[in-house]
Amino acid sequence: MPSLGRFSQWTFLNKKQGWHPSDIGLRKYCRILSFFWPGNIIRYRFMDCNQLLNKQYFNRQDIIVLLALRGNGLDALYRKSQQVREKNVGKKVYYRGLIEYSNRCAKNCFYCGVRRGNKAIDRYTLTDDEVLEAARLALNENFGSLVIQAGERSDRGFVEKIGHLLREVRKLSGGKLRVTLSLGEQTEETYRMWRNSGAHRYLLRIETSNPALYKKLHPEDDLHSFQMRLKALDLIQETGYHVGTGVMIGLPFQTLDDLAADLLFIKNHDIDMVGMGPYIEHEATPLFRYRDQMQSKKERFELSMKMVAILRLMMPDINIAATTAMQTLHPQGREIALKTGANVIMPNLTPLKYREGYLLYEIKESTLKEGGLGNKPL
Ligand code: SAH
Ligand code: SF4
Repeated sequence: MPSLGRFSQWTFLNKKQGWHPSDIGLRKYCRILSFFWPGNIIRYRFMDCNQLLNKQYFNRQDIIVLLALRGNGLDALYRKSQQVREKNVGKKVYYRGLIEYSNRCAKNCFYCGVRRGNKAIDRYTLTDDEVLEAARLALNENFGSLVIQAGERSDRGFVEKIGHLLREVRKLSGGKLRVTLSLGEQTEETYRMWRNSGAHRYLLRIETSNPALYKKLHPEDDLHSFQMRLKALDLIQETGYHVGTGVMIGLPFQTLDDLAADLLFIKNHDIDMVGMGPYIEHEATPLFRYRDQMQSKKERFELSMKMVAILRLMMPDINIAATTAMQTLHPQGREIALKTGANVIMPNLTPLKYREGYLLYEIKESTLKEGGLGNKPL
């Protein structure tokens, strides 16, 4: 795999095959490359677009080219990813009801609105009854699956409470409702206890596969270590969960090379489901100061759709979520993501009165109030 700064070839589309370099925006692409690899010599290589899209295995360089596609080339990518989606996972959309269980968090990630350091928000935790009510709602709507997400805590009270809720949900649904947890890094013992109490899947985003970028996004201490994040992902795998991970897209300092490496990381880690989405700034976070140095929201949305499409080609039969952050940047964000290759959506079941407290990023009023239950499959 070429390391950052050693990018030496540029694949583009052969006019004779019906494609033209302008399809991928020659000037813009060169600008992107010279921005990320200043001083690099870029050599050119001709390759037919369909040939590239039909490759069995994409290397880092192929993925960078796909991420930079525009115009006809981009349409071809989306057509292909839609075909691959329909052939491998059909037109079916899986619904997972999302419960934002608590915004109490022991961590201080630089990008997140519920970080410990944000004193401007009221902290909440749902009552047991509220969680069970949401579980009943999910059952009645035939969702088949529930996601319990919260800020990261590993104190005994929290760990026991989640174990208890898992057992209650199992009892209530007769084991019919599958549960995904998204509660951050925990010990092996905790992962095991939650698994035995009824959790089936665990979603832990790696955020970025680039350790140097990870460092820029987190405080430098044991609570926020890239190595510990990797270790936690391994533990989740070892303790028998279906494993989900993902990254944020369009972060400050992030390059197309980073995103290509992210997709390869996911592919190489035997992941069952992926939840990735655009980074969205939040005023009360340290990363907000870089808001003028990032791609526009439109570009971040488009980049997210490309990531979904390319991942679908790389991993045809996994579950890929159309995430809330996509919906936040585009009114039809989730629907577009489903067409592009995603096959899971997570309607929000959190009681409305708590939603304002769980703002990981800036969000539109309409998204905040969304009931989530009116959505229908494709
Ligand atoms: N505390 C748990 C789960 C809740 S946070 C954890 O961190 O794993 C869930 C996800 O929200 C994070 O993994 C991160 O990828 C995403 N997130 C946080 N802040 C964000 C922001 N500003 N923009 C987009 N996604 C964000
Ligand atoms: Fe806490 Fe998760 Fe937000 Fe980090 S991303 S501050 S762990 S809720």
